[in-house]
Amino acid sequence: MQTHFSLAQLADPHVAEAEKILRTCVHCGFCTATCPTYVLLGDELDSPRGRIYLIKDMLENDRPATEQEVKHIDRCLSCLSCMTTCPSGVNYMHLVDQARVHIEKTYVRPAHDRLMRAMLAKVLPYPHRFRLALMGAMVGKPFAPLLAKIPGLKPLAAMLRLSPGQPNGRAHHEAPGTFPAQGQRRARVALLRGCAQPVLRPSIDDAAIRLLTRLGVEVVRVEGEGCCGALVHHMGREEEAHAFARNNVDAWTREMDGPGLDAILVTTSGCGTPIKDYGHMLRLDAAYKDKAARVSSITRDISEFLVTLDLPKAAAPLGRRVAYHSACSLQHGQKVKGPPVELLRTVGFEVAEPFDPHLCCGSAGTYNMLQSEIADQLKAKKVGTLEALSPDIIAAGNIGCMAQIGSGTGVPVAHTVELLDWAMGGPAPAGFSGTAKAAQKAA
Ligand code: SF4
Ligand code: SF4
Repeated sequence: MQTHFSLAQLADPHVAEAEKILRTCVHCGFCTATCPTYVLLGDELDSPRGRIYLIKDMLENDRPATEQEVKHIDRCLSCLSCMTTCPSGVNYMHLVDQARVHIEKTYVRPAHDRLMRAMLAKVLPYPHRFRLALMGAMVGKPFAPLLAKIPGLKPLAAMLRLSPGQPNGRAHHEAPGTFPAQGQRRARVALLRGCAQPVLRPSIDDAAIRLLTRLGVEVVRVEGEGCCGALVHHMGREEEAHAFARNNVDAWTREMDGPGLDAILVTTSGCGTPIKDYGHMLRLDAAYKDKAARVSSITRDISEFLVTLDLPKAAAPLGRRVAYHSACSLQHGQKVKGPPVELLRTVGFEVAEPFDPHLCCGSAGTYNMLQSEIADQLKAKKVGTLEALSPDIIAAGNIGCMAQIGSGTGVPVAHTVELLDWAMGGPAPAGFSGTAKAAQKAA
């Protein structure tokens, strides 16, 4: 793609990066076929190629974003399916990140939209605030259908609909501390605590710690770490995202330089993608770029790490059929596709995948609240293709997908590590009881 940035514009490293990305796009349009919003809406401006043109025009002319541009860029899920499809290696992720920052700096959103975004940014990344908000949501949940009829309050209605109907407990292992390996220690890892996941489903990290320590891995909950910054990053709130990233880089660097870490493990793939990108995110910060790159280099999704540990192979099938949903942040953002399925099969589950595995379920961070109509349509399609597999359980490696899919189906939804832990003797995930073996459960 030809670009026409001036030399003065190109002196800005952000613009120089955007120009480089834009020039790799050859307009072929292959990406449109695998873009969930294009497939759903059929509008070129809701395709990756259309959005790339909008971003080019906005940045090249160095002008405030227009309502039209904001509408189509807001509709992008950042699912990165287009990056998997693109034959030219266009880094759409870094380009749309820049577009979102530009929009945040130059466009004045309607008051209700500003308020909703500010509330999400100031509540979701902080577990204490989020817990309090969910308690309030339990009271407000019955009013969600009423609020959905008021245009400016649709995001609030979507938030209430997605909120759990009852309080969750706290993870047994939430506080900073070290959990020793059983038997001989094979590795020492940090397990990201994160922000929304321990509030929505604390049992995931409990299962991860049981699983890892059972396999000879020492697990540390690092003092001082917090939200990865993804939620605000996807809203274009660059300074806030960088502050979260620096905080975590400091916390993990202290641990790496102290007792040492073989890996930083993440059980929410929506957090893993930006942490693996911290090196790029902080590349212009002289004090942090090397430390951030070091953190990114040892960050792994938990399935990537577990697959290196040779889990004991099941002696016989468990008789449970799992429909595996591959989170976009895992398959497109981190290119991790095989390990979760391989692990589930190793411990004895029968695993099937839907015919549209590349398409997003509509969760996408705060997307299912801010763009609830599109998100609901994507959810209905995804639930349909997962239920068509007649599963006993739906599995995913990202809490956002679990909440989104779980709000549209009666089939129990579990995290991959909850199922692995269950198969290896841990407690049953929500919606089940007893051991993982179907025959034993029936008896
Ligand atoms: S990130 Fe997803 S929704 Fe956005 S343009 Fe790419 S494929 Fe489409
Ligand atoms: S597939 Fe890649 S090169 Fe082709 S239009 Fe899409 S982004 Fe551009």
